[in-house]
Amino acid sequence: MNHAIIAPTAPQALLAVNDIEVMYDDAILAVAGVSLQVGQGDIVALLGANGAGKSTTLKAISGLVQADRAQVSRGHIRFQEQDTTGVAAHVLARRGIVHVLEGRHVFAHLTVEENLRSGGFLRNPTRRELEHDLERIYAWFPRLRHKRRAQAGVTSGGEQQMLAIGRALMTKPRLMLLDEPSMGLAPIIVEEIFAIVAQLNAQERMSFLVAEQNINIALRHASYAYIMESGRVVGEGAAAELARRDDIQHFYLGGKAG
Ligand code: ATP
Repeated sequence: MNHAIIAPTAPQALLAVNDIEVMYDDAILAVAGVSLQVGQGDIVALLGANGAGKSTTLKAISGLVQADRAQVSRGHIRFQEQDTTGVAAHVLARRGIVHVLEGRHVFAHLTVEENLRSGGFLRNPTRRELEHDLERIYAWFPRLRHKRRAQAGVTSGGEQQMLAIGRALMTKPRLMLLDEPSMGLAPIIVEEIFAIVAQLNAQERMSFLVAEQNINIALRHASYAYIMESGRVVGEGAAAELARRDDIQHFYLGGKAG
């Protein structure tokens, strides 16, 4: 029997990136020929070393490239059957794409709860809806409830990452782009964060595209993965298949960890 690996989606992918090229400052070609898909309810990993082009690809999808003086200079991006190439980030946020940037961006001088509330304003909710949504985030992240009145800047790295994800959840996204959620965090905290991602995926059918250098944790939670190198996709496959391939572990990420 032929066990060909099939990409997670067919025609009605939630997100379809088709052969894109991204240029910074009309001069620096950061990403070329990148195609990938995320189906409704999938967790897809985008793997690669530093500078491979993962962040740029995510920013192209969320529209944030424009804030970095970059643009999608070739190819197309479709989200929910609509062409979203070059559409501004705030428009895409309203359509259901939320981007949690690398490096745990939180408003350091605001409290944890104020940070969460800031994520809710996008939808212009009533006070009651906002309170309800806050409760929902605290149910997912009990640590945030505990720290709700603390200044975000003095919470731990793991709490800040949870806060960045919690604030993104306040926008009620259909697709969350997560850029290196494991970066700089202790393994036990990374496990906790990925466990919550897996639960959100299972219970709310939320879709995720997760850029990671931590191949082991990403492949354990994703169903499908793409591997990037020097701005291109150089490999892809079912996560379970890729996890068994020693060449990927060693060549791209310097040996098996954990
Ligand atoms: P990292 O984990 O370090 O963020 P990455 O895989 O996400 O790596 P990118 O940050 O997307 O990779 O970088 C891809 C390429 O784009 C690199 O060659 C980088 O130098 C270039 N690049 C990224 N940001 C900019 C920018 N603002 N201006 C010019 N070039 C950039």
